[in-house]
Amino acid sequence: MKPAAFAYARARSLDHAIELIGGEPDARLLAGGQSLIATLNMRLSQPPLLVDINRVPGLDGIAVRDGSIEIGALVRHAQAERSAAITSHAPLVAKALPHIGHPAIRNRGTIGGSIAFADPAAELPACLVALGGEVAIAGPKGRRTVKADDFFKGLFETALGPGDVLTAIRVPAATAETRTGFGEFARRHGDYAMAGLAASARANGKGLTDTRLVFFGVGTMPVRARGAEAALAGGDLDAAVEALSKDLDPPDDVQASGPVKTHLAGVLLRRVAKQLMEKPS
Ligand code: FAD
Repeated sequence: MKPAAFAYARARSLDHAIELIGGEPDARLLAGGQSLIATLNMRLSQPPLLVDINRVPGLDGIAVRDGSIEIGALVRHAQAERSAAITSHAPLVAKALPHIGHPAIRNRGTIGGSIAFADPAAELPACLVALGGEVAIAGPKGRRTVKADDFFKGLFETALGPGDVLTAIRVPAATAETRTGFGEFARRHGDYAMAGLAASARANGKGLTDTRLVFFGVGTMPVRARGAEAALAGGDLDAAVEALSKDLDPPDDVQASGPVKTHLAGVLLRRVAKQLMEKPS
């Protein structure tokens, strides 16, 4: 199928993008196009105008400052995979990136697009929540920052409003105490996950504190498993796995039934808990 007719405008600057998108309520931003163009081709979406932000300057940087690492919205997944700064300062993101689609998709797809699109089976939204990160947004009323915990609202729904452009994400830079773990089950490597887990914690010499276990592919958005987190804080992995039956309520989907997903989540938790205990080399 081919997309319905649409107008196209290339934004020269962030302000220009906000002006263009603000002028047409149903317009859509075009970043890597890896999700948007597919939805257009299938006519799941028929926006009258696409605002291309690929040449907007200042959105493709990776910077470490004030204890955080900031990743610009237009950083491609492949660029992020090659980034030494992300490997050292955001190891959870580095672990997740190779699981996103296939190389051709990672060459074009952007970090900002993944977060803004908010697919419930996507890796990066879960990583952002697991790291307690935040999202930088510029819009018609100026700039603001939204915590990852408040950014994802539901199925493909976020805190982005009309005319908003996601400009960057920020996560706390890893320290010597930071521990991270990541795992997912997909039918083939690169497919969207049937179930996945992104986790972070802080080692305090005796065990782990501040553990955040965030599952994806098991709900309408990234799901924090708070009961399992509490059980893990008490050092009881069996109880943590048991707690998932209350923490998660995955709907059946084309990939697997809800009970299968809960089972897979338990297997992932056992694997990821081991990673959390390991000191990074
Ligand atoms: P686009 O497709 O350009 O845009 C997606 C949506 O986000 C649009 O609504 C657009 O308006 C909006 N948007 C984009 N950028 C911004 C911004 N800066 N501010 C506000 N709104 C914005 N993803 C995964 O996470 N895991 C996978 O396993 C995976 N597998 C895939 C397999 C296939 C075959 C394909 C085609 C895609 C797959 N993807 C997967 C999606 C891929 O990661 C996309 O790159 C990503 O979801 C969207 O990024 P994009 O830059 O391509 O965004």
